[in-house]
Amino acid sequence: MNNPHPTQQQAVVIGGGIVGVCCALYLQRDGHRVTLIDPAAPGDSTAKWSCGQMAVSEVIPLSKPGILMKIPGWLLDQKGPLALRPSALPGILPWFMRFLACARPAKIHEIAQDMARLTQHVYDDYAPLLDACPDKTLLGQRPILEVFDSPAGLAHERPHLELRKQLGFRSEELDGAAIGDLEPALAGKFHHGLLFPDWRAVSDTEGFIAALTESFVAQGGKRIRQRVLKIEENHDKASGVTLADGARVPADLLVVAAGTGARPFFDTLGVNIPLAGIAGYQAVLPQPGVEIRHSVIYADGGFCFAPMTRGLQIGGTIEFAGPNAQPNFRRAEIILEKARRVLPQLRTEGMEFGVGYRPFLPDTKPVIDRSPRLQNTLMAFGHGQLGLTLGATTGRLISDLAGGRRPAQDLSPFSARRFALIGGHA
Ligand SMILES: Cc1cc2nc3c(=O)[nH]c(=O)nc-3n(C[C@H](O)[C@H](O)[C@H](O)COP(=O)(O)OP(=O)(O)OC[C@H]3O[C@@H](n4cnc5c(N)ncnc54)[C@H](O)[C@@H]3O)c2cc1C
Repeated sequence: MNNPHPTQQQAVVIGGGIVGVCCALYLQRDGHRVTLIDPAAPGDSTAKWSCGQMAVSEVIPLSKPGILMKIPGWLLDQKGPLALRPSALPGILPWFMRFLACARPAKIHEIAQDMARLTQHVYDDYAPLLDACPDKTLLGQRPILEVFDSPAGLAHERPHLELRKQLGFRSEELDGAAIGDLEPALAGKFHHGLLFPDWRAVSDTEGFIAALTESFVAQGGKRIRQRVLKIEENHDKASGVTLADGARVPADLLVVAAGTGARPFFDTLGVNIPLAGIAGYQAVLPQPGVEIRHSVIYADGGFCFAPMTRGLQIGGTIEFAGPNAQPNFRRAEIILEKARRVLPQLRTEGMEFGVGYRPFLPDTKPVIDRSPRLQNTLMAFGHGQLGLTLGATTGRLISDLAGGRRPAQDLSPFSARRFALIGGHA
């Protein structure tokens, strides 16, 4: 890996979602010959169904105290923003126990600090990748709003806002008039809100990844539409991968960036990581009949309105469904019903539903690390609710590891070994 001539290395990246394509682009910038492998079309990955936010201050883990207190109520309420399918319970229990262990205030502070060390660099890390794309409008400039039903919702957020402030992220409180000025469609409906001036948004999540992929190919990268079945090894190194069609692609350097699809490779990688796929649903309304100008998180409803190029997208939710469960689009209908209570004039002609499986680790942090078994193999997965935000930063850090450089950020909080003592897949 400490090759002084990285230009001679043939790098293979498994997974062409946002994390994989950013790893591929950064390795390419470092002089590697890169092959990116994914069975899906560019852009047709989890982030297609994301809310599109560069959520740079969303560093407080999901296990924050406010959430934990809400969970029992949500589980009893089938229309709540969090759902647990009974069939998923046995499988998810070990994951959930670790998740609960991350709810201590000291642990929440530690995780928020670790994540902020990454999210503070998001725009700088995306800049060279986006500069190389012909379309200069891929990343929008609008800030994001969060609205609450009552002062209590906002009061719950205050300790988190304070922590975010300590970590260098801004927020502004909004009263009803300010919310109405920014979002006329919501005038008179909400009287308590927040503005996050540091966040930015992608309006075409599929097009964003497709454009980065086109840029990678235009700069000499190769993308193969196939599933990787197997990592081949020679002594303590990966020597290549075998594809579903039987072809073999040789590799001097391998990056596994396959989201939840990384799980089948864990034995070969020598890791035992509790990686869960947590479903989130979206309803896309091509002609919603109402103008929403910013992304608006409706905290008490557990969903986000996001104005996208394909229409108004309404989505979110957290569903623990188990690894092989079929999507339950009733979740998207529930979101839509709730959205209609806020905006009764919403029109649903031509509506489309979508689902994405966030690759989630119980401490909400990704794995950005070397394989403990295969010297020339790197791992970049588990970005949970922040994969779109952290794609480019992960790519830069992976290229540092690949080039034998000490990354500017300490990567020990993102080590796969943090799960080593506990063991067991989620
Ligand atoms: C409802 C929802 C809202 C979200 N909102 C946001 C948001 O606002 N901001 C944000 O930052 N994040 C958000 N996210 C999270 C974000 O979408 C994910 O963190 C991110 O997409 C993960 O990217 P990834 O590249 O690691 O994985 P993926 O996007 O899942 O990509 C993995 C790729 O690997 C490929 N693959 C799998 N197995 C193999 C194999 N064997 N061989 C080859 N290829 C393989 C897959 O086909 C896939 O294309 C949201 C997610 C959801 C579901």
